[in-house]
Amino acid sequence: SAGTAALPTQWGITAQMIQPLGDAQEGFRGFLWFARFDREAVWKNDYQEFMTILNHSIIEIDRKLMVEKAITYQANYDGITGLMNRAYFTDRLNQAVSANLDIAVIFIDVDGFKTINDTFGHDVGDQILMVIGQRITNVLDKADFSARFGGDEFAVMVHQRRGLTSTIDKIQQEFLEPIRLNSRKLFLTLSIGIALAPEDGERAEELMKHADLAMYHAKENGKNKAVFCSSELKAAQNREMALSNDLYQAIEQGQLSLHYQPQVDGRTGEIVGLEALARWYHPQLGMVSPGIFIPIAEKNGLINELGDWVLREACRQNKAWEMMGLGPMRISVNFSMVQFMAAGIVPRISAVIQEFDLKPKTLVVEITESINVYDFTQIDQTVQDLKKLGVAISIDDFGTEYSSLDRLKNLPVDEIKIDKRFIDGLPKDVSSIGIIRAIIALAEIFDLELVAEGVETEEQLEFLLAAGCRVIQGYYFYPPLSAEAVGDLLRTIHEQRTV
Ligand code: C2E
Ligand code: CA
Ligand code: CA
Repeated sequence: SAGTAALPTQWGITAQMIQPLGDAQEGFRGFLWFARFDREAVWKNDYQEFMTILNHSIIEIDRKLMVEKAITYQANYDGITGLMNRAYFTDRLNQAVSANLDIAVIFIDVDGFKTINDTFGHDVGDQILMVIGQRITNVLDKADFSARFGGDEFAVMVHQRRGLTSTIDKIQQEFLEPIRLNSRKLFLTLSIGIALAPEDGERAEELMKHADLAMYHAKENGKNKAVFCSSELKAAQNREMALSNDLYQAIEQGQLSLHYQPQVDGRTGEIVGLEALARWYHPQLGMVSPGIFIPIAEKNGLINELGDWVLREACRQNKAWEMMGLGPMRISVNFSMVQFMAAGIVPRISAVIQEFDLKPKTLVVEITESINVYDFTQIDQTVQDLKKLGVAISIDDFGTEYSSLDRLKNLPVDEIKIDKRFIDGLPKDVSSIGIIRAIIALAEIFDLELVAEGVETEEQLEFLLAAGCRVIQGYYFYPPLSAEAVGDLLRTIHEQRTV
C-alpha cells in the first residue's frame, strides 16, 4: 500500500507515493516510487491507479523473465551437478573449435558407478556425482569448461597449450582422496579418453565421438587410466563398423556355419557331447572369430536372430545325425546373455525342440553370467522355466565373472565349465590349481557335471583326471570340427563298436 515518509526537502519533492514490488509470498523485489516536484501536493485517484497497474505489469514481466531464465537453465545445465549438459557443451565446444583449434576434449567415466548406485541408492549416488563434478571443475582453468552427460559420464574442454597433461594429472590426483560418505570412505577411479583438435576432429561431434572411443578403450583395458585417441583406435572402430554392417547379410547369404567340438570322457576317450561354435566365413576377410562377431552382434542387436539361427541349425544337425543312426548326441549351444534375457526365449527354445522332435535333455544351454547383468530375478526365472522344459543348463567360463556360490545354490544348474584360463595354469600355477580344486569341490557338493575347457596337454589331462574332473574339451582330443568331420568321426566310432 502507498505510504508516506519524511520528504527529502533538499530535492524539492512536494509529494511522494511508494508501493512495494512483489510480496513476501512471491518474493519482495523492491519499491515503486512516485515523486512530485510541483506545488500541487496531492495525488489524484488516476495516479494511484496508474501506479498499481504499473506495479502489476512490472511484476508480470519480471515473473516471465524468471521463468525464461529457469527454462534456459534447465535446457543447458544438469540439475544434479550444475554443470553444462550434453547439448550445451556441444554448442560451446563448436564455438570454441571454430574460434581456435588449440583444443582437447576429455571424456571421463567413473569406474563401477553402477555398483555405488545399487549399494547406496540414487540419492547418495546423486550426492557423489555432485562431488565428482566439483572435483573435476576445481582443477580447470577459467577458459575451460566441464559438463555432465547424464549417468556417470563427464566431459571437459581444455586448451591444449595451457597444459593438457597437467590437467589430466590434476583430475586423477583429485580422486586419490576418498569421497567421504558419513563415516565411510569411498575411493573412486576414472577411465579417461582424450581427443585432440584437429587430428581427431574439427567439429564437436567428431571430437566427442573420438574422446568417447578412447575412453571406452581405457575401460576395456582395465579402467583407471587415461587413453589418447589414436589412428589405430580409429581404424579398429572403422573395421568394427564395417563388420557390423556386413553381419546383417551374413545369415541370409549363408556365410554362417557351425563347428562342433567334442567333449570327451578323459578316461575312456568316449565322446559324451558336442559344443556348437559359430563360424563366419566373410567373403573378403575369410574366417572371422566368434570372439569378434558375437560382441558386435550383441551391440547391433543381431544377436537374437543369429542366436536363433545357431539353435535351429544345431538342433537340425543333431536330428540329422540321429536319423543316420549316429545319435542322439548331447549338444551344447552358447547363449549370449542379451539373447537369454530377451522376451520369449523359453517358448522359442521349446518350439525348436518340438520342430525337430528332439529329447529336451539332449540340448545343453550354455550361459555366461556377467557382472554387467543386474536382473538376476529374470535370469533365475528363465533358468527355472527351461528346467521345466527338460533342457540342461551349463554355466560357461565358471569362476571368471559373477558366478557366485550363493546363486549356484539356488539355481537348478546341471553343469559348470572350468574356464581355459585356469587350465592354462596347469600343472604348475598355484593359484590356478587352487581355483580348479575349489571348483571341483563345488561341483561335488552341488552334484553338478563338470567340463574342463581348453585342455591342450597330457599333463593338464592327467592333473584333471587325478583331481576328479572327467569330461574334457580341448585341442588335446579334438579341435572344433565341421559337421561333416564330426559325422565321419561318429560313424567310425559307431562302426568300431558294432564290429
Ligand atoms: P566358449 O564358449 O568359451 O568356447 C570355447 C572356445 O575355446 C572356442 O573358441 C573353442 O574353439 C576354444 N577352444 C576349445 N578348446 C581349445 C583349446 O584346447 N585351446 C584353445 N586355445 N582354444 C580352445 P571359439 O570357437 O573361437 O569361440 C569363442 C567364443 O565365442 C566362445 O567361447 C563363445 O563365448 C562365443 N561363441 C561361439 N559360438 C557362439 C554362439 O553360437 N553363440 C554365442 N552367443 N556365442 C558363441
Ligand atoms: Ca561355451
Ligand atoms: Ca568357455
